Amino acid sequence: MQTQTNMTDTPQALCKTLQLNPKTVQSLKVDLNSPFPLKVPKDFLAQIQLNDPTDPLLKQVLPLKIEHQTADGFSQDPVSDLAFNPTPSLIHKYHGRVLLIASPKCDIHCRYCFRRHFPYSEQTNTRHWKKALDYIAQNPSIHEVILSGGDPMSLSEKSLVQLIEKIEAIPHIKTLRIHSRTPVVAPSKAPTQALIAWAKQTRLHKVLVVHCNHANELSPQTAKLFSLYKEAGFHLLNQSVLLKDINDQVSILENLSHALFSQGVLPYYLNQLDRVQGAAHFEVDRHTALNLHNQLRKCLSGYLLPNLVQDTSNPFYKVPIT
Ligand SMILES: *Cc1c(COP(=O)(O)O)cnc(C)c1O
Ligand code: SF4
Repeated sequence: MQTQTNMTDTPQALCKTLQLNPKTVQSLKVDLNSPFPLKVPKDFLAQIQLNDPTDPLLKQVLPLKIEHQTADGFSQDPVSDLAFNPTPSLIHKYHGRVLLIASPKCDIHCRYCFRRHFPYSEQTNTRHWKKALDYIAQNPSIHEVILSGGDPMSLSEKSLVQLIEKIEAIPHIKTLRIHSRTPVVAPSKAPTQALIAWAKQTRLHKVLVVHCNHANELSPQTAKLFSLYKEAGFHLLNQSVLLKDINDQVSILENLSHALFSQGVLPYYLNQLDRVQGAAHFEVDRHTALNLHNQLRKCLSGYLLPNLVQDTSNPFYKVPIT
């Protein structure tokens, strides 16, 4: 039987499972009724330390009341994706590549996520795929399709491969890129057989960008999964989000790069937080971010140094932070 992602349904249940003492839980001001509810896959849960309210993985998933605070400059669509939306579920903002929102769902709910307010219901119906594919087919300047979400790997493997085959059928597409957090947070749920069978025979270049913020998220299960994708011809890259009190230390980021590399993954982007409402308490200020990155540059081989970038609405690329 396939292993199910077993949700720990409520923040109370999660705290109990993690043996956090009730007083600590109270002082954390946990939000029991968040509109963006708690969601933690069991593989990720297994990587969280017991009885540690400061655990860097726990902090990424536990809903807190502080998320209700509004902060200047934090909005619902911080990267203006909705302004570059030629057809529902497609974002064409960058030259040569489009982003297709392949699934509204994720296997995990990351508290800092910039898509927490995204109008998924209007954007992600599979009905929209045909129009999106038509748009891509009519634009020969597009050579790369990026599957994103939500998380494309939260689709059934069959739907995912069907979608990919339709993309492959467009002659001017050369590269398929999948952006997914599933291989890191729920390796036991990630697609393997059909995707790998497809990957081994396709004409397309294949890139898988995973999303890992801390070395503790990696395990023997992630290593095994990454090696399957690698053998099937995927280039493996990682993006992280710089998060206050989670990974905003040189030693943590240095470890992360080494841990990723030891599992066959190269660091790609270290993203400055998108300024989304409810996530202000995760923000690392620009000066600190730059300082961290400069220190990392000294201790990491060049190919292990992620690009520190900020996604903004203008200009239309991930802007290096300087
Ligand atoms: C990040 C992003 C891309 C891809 O950018 P790269 O720099 O190629 O990784 C494309 N489209 C959208 C909407 C994006 O946010
Ligand atoms: S997996 Fe990615 S898209 Fe989904 S909640 Fe986390 S950061 Fe957001």
